[in-house]
Amino acid sequence: MSELILFWHRRDLRIGDNTGLAAARKQSPKVVGVFCLDPNILERDDVAPVRVEYMIGCLQALQEQYAQIGSQLLILHTDPRQAIPTLAAALNAKAVFWNWDVEPYSQIRDRTIIDALKEKGIQFLDENWDQILHTPAEIRTGNNSPYTVYTPFWKNWSSKPKAPPAETLQTAEGLTPAEQEIAKNAGAISLPTAKDLGFIWDGDLILPPGETAAQDRLAEFTYKAITEYQEQRNFPATDGTSQLSAALKFGVIGIRTVWQATIAAQENSRSEETTASIRTWQQELAWREFYQHAMYHFPELARGAYRDAFKNFPWETNNAHFQAWCGGKTGYPIVDAAMRQLNESGWMHNRCRMIVASFLTKDLLINPQLGEKYFMQKLIDGDLSANNGGWQWSASSGMDPKPVRIFNPASQSQKFDPDAEYIRQWLPELRSIDTEYLVTGKITPLERRAVGYPEPIVDHKQQQQKFKQRYQQQKEII
Ligand code: FAD
Repeated sequence: MSELILFWHRRDLRIGDNTGLAAARKQSPKVVGVFCLDPNILERDDVAPVRVEYMIGCLQALQEQYAQIGSQLLILHTDPRQAIPTLAAALNAKAVFWNWDVEPYSQIRDRTIIDALKEKGIQFLDENWDQILHTPAEIRTGNNSPYTVYTPFWKNWSSKPKAPPAETLQTAEGLTPAEQEIAKNAGAISLPTAKDLGFIWDGDLILPPGETAAQDRLAEFTYKAITEYQEQRNFPATDGTSQLSAALKFGVIGIRTVWQATIAAQENSRSEETTASIRTWQQELAWREFYQHAMYHFPELARGAYRDAFKNFPWETNNAHFQAWCGGKTGYPIVDAAMRQLNESGWMHNRCRMIVASFLTKDLLINPQLGEKYFMQKLIDGDLSANNGGWQWSASSGMDPKPVRIFNPASQSQKFDPDAEYIRQWLPELRSIDTEYLVTGKITPLERRAVGYPEPIVDHKQQQQKFKQRYQQQKEII
């Protein structure tokens, strides 16, 4: 009888192009998947119901894939630090394999599990860097230190050859009926719904769950939209971006597969313009890795500002302003439209993420950590590294060398939503108002009252000055 290898899925909810899973299958034909619904994560106060709904859908799809290749995906719902070693021991597994993750919690958790497996004499393989194209050890400066600035990171990262997709599992042996009983006794359960777990999301999902849907989206995007990405990506009213972020967050599609699709698109490209456009999208993939490397090297980023000038910044504690921002009721149409998109769809366009993050920190002078957490509570793609990176960048508190970046909501709307299509889509109460007033924000008090839309809660110019003064003071102190 073949020896069993348990493959622990975490942020790699797929069978194809999965480096750790492919390595497990090479060692033994008997590979069984396991996913642990970790209460240490699910019981945190920053979990978005839409994210859980998507994740559960992906797990269901993964269970079906395992069944098709002849094996199973087991589900646990308890602390993995005990559950994984216990299950492995009960099933007499030879080894447990998994793919490494950059997040501080995962790293501490995994080390505990490694110790427990060692104690039980079970082998493990955790060194697969499946979710990124280059490991933090590969991309370092000439002085052998981590990059803190994106552009030189990109130069180095893009110059390195990329691995092809890992072999997709075609077949695997699963557990015998007797072993399935043992797994049940060791905690394996049927896959619950998001509702069973206390998360209710009744809206649509921006991307259907599962590997096939993610592959279809990638194929569709790289067939055409990628060639217009550079031109379209900043307009929130158009579908100019891939909307693959949730799939990338949960590893529902392999990053090597994604990269390969961009290379194929480049090979088919007939103009410098389209090649440049594809390059721009590749740069976004590199931003994703830049932030993951940053989180790996500087886990303290998860706890607050990177730059000294922001470590003790006198943020305001104005709950009414914060609630207005969360609810899309600031009186600034582009900000409110974006927040309503987030609340109603569980996703927000990147341009608008930057606009609302700038507004919270530079106009309302509210601590970016509050915004970062609110995003995690709402986003389908909520991801510690990318979200933290985006917030630190927008708050000017991160590694980015440009110190203070303040977005003017009116100029942002005029430039990126010139016909107010996006504003009208998410703020139906403003549909009858002239485009010019919507994009400049110059809606009269009378009109605001008539449609039940609030007055601006702050004055952009004044707040900008206030922010700059406080920033100068902080710089003088340090
Ligand atoms: P595309 O434009 O098609 O880009 C392709 C992929 O590249 C994305 O799916 C994503 O994986 C990656 N990517 C693109 N831009 C960035 C970026 N700036 N940083 C890191 N990765 C990037 N992205 C998340 O995945 N999760 C988050 O929680 C998150 N929070 C953010 C918070 C703020 C304040 C800001 C400014 C940005 C945040 N981003 C986050 C980055 C970016 O907004 C989203 O990745 C993007 O909007 C997702 O849409 P898309 O898949 O259509 O992206």
